[in-house]
Parts: sequence; structure tokens; C-alpha cells
Amino acid sequence: MLSSPVVASEAHLGRSKNETLITRPSLMKELAARGIRITSQRRLLVGIIQDSPRHLDAATLLEIAKKRDPGIDRATVYRTLAMLKGRGLIDELDLMHIEGEKHYYEAKTNRDHCHMACFRCGAIMEYASSAFEELKKEMALQSGFEIRVVRLEVGGFCKKCKKKPA
Ligand SMILES: [Zn+2]
Ligand SMILES: [Zn+2]
Repeated sequence: MLSSPVVASEAHLGRSKNETLITRPSLMKELAARGIRITSQRRLLVGIIQDSPRHLDAATLLEIAKKRDPGIDRATVYRTLAMLKGRGLIDELDLMHIEGEKHYYEAKTNRDHCHMACFRCGAIMEYASSAFEELKKEMALQSGFEIRVVRLEVGGFCKKCKKKPA
């Protein structure tokens, strides 16, 4: 039986106490569990990604980090993102290129979700559904493919914007 889907706005991206929402397990715990030691600058970056109420691009991440540690540079940001990505702890997203060619990053979630991007206001919504899980199972079964990463992005107009005249 399919349970009801979860729709979450970006405001739900931070650490959520509500397990029924899309949650993000602790990156620091994951790193520790894998025996990875990180510098204080990297720790700061990881904390910002973990707690961010938005999907962050590298420039925004650098901007936020610099306010807390002016010594952090672009290279550290990119190296940290590459390290997290290489270990499968964060996902890299295009988000329909609503703001040009930027890439966005988010901590891996407890369940795969689709992203919906509003072309008018730039709102990003997350959508998780057991129907999506079923589709993944079906794809794997029918194709014999072992799925490791799934990314689905949807562009259009959010509830509020679709009511406004163009
Ligand atoms: Zn909108
Ligand atoms: Zn997301």
C-alpha cells in the first residue's frame, strides 16, 4: 500500500525533528563513523550545509562561511564539497538552472526525493513518495540495473504563482 507523499518546502531542509518529513542524517556523525577527521574549516562548512534552510550553491556557502571564519577560501569550499560528494554524503543538483548555471548541494536525505522548481518565484519544493520508491524498484527489476543515485527535477509554477497572470 502506498503511504501519502511528503511535500516539503525549503524551510524544512534543516535538521528536522519530525521523522515523517524528509530528514538529513548528521554529516559529522557519518564522517566520524567512517574515521574521517576534518579540519575546523571543513567542520564549519559541513555544519553550514547540514543546517542550511536552503539548497546552497558554492558561492553562497563561501559567503556564509566567511562571516564566521574570514580565512576560508574558495579552494577549501570546493575541496570540501568534492570530498563530501565523493563519499556520497551530499547530492549535487541543477534545480532546473533557475539561477543560471549554478550547482546546488544538499546533505543526503533519509529517502530519495524529487525537486520542484518554480520558474517565477524560484521556490524549491521537495517531494517524496512511495510511488517514487515503487518506480525505482520497477526500473531496477525490469532493467537489471543497480540504482545508486536518482535525480528527478520538475520545473513549473508553484501553487501561488500559477494563479498570477503571466
Ligand atoms: Zn512560485
Ligand atoms: Zn532537496
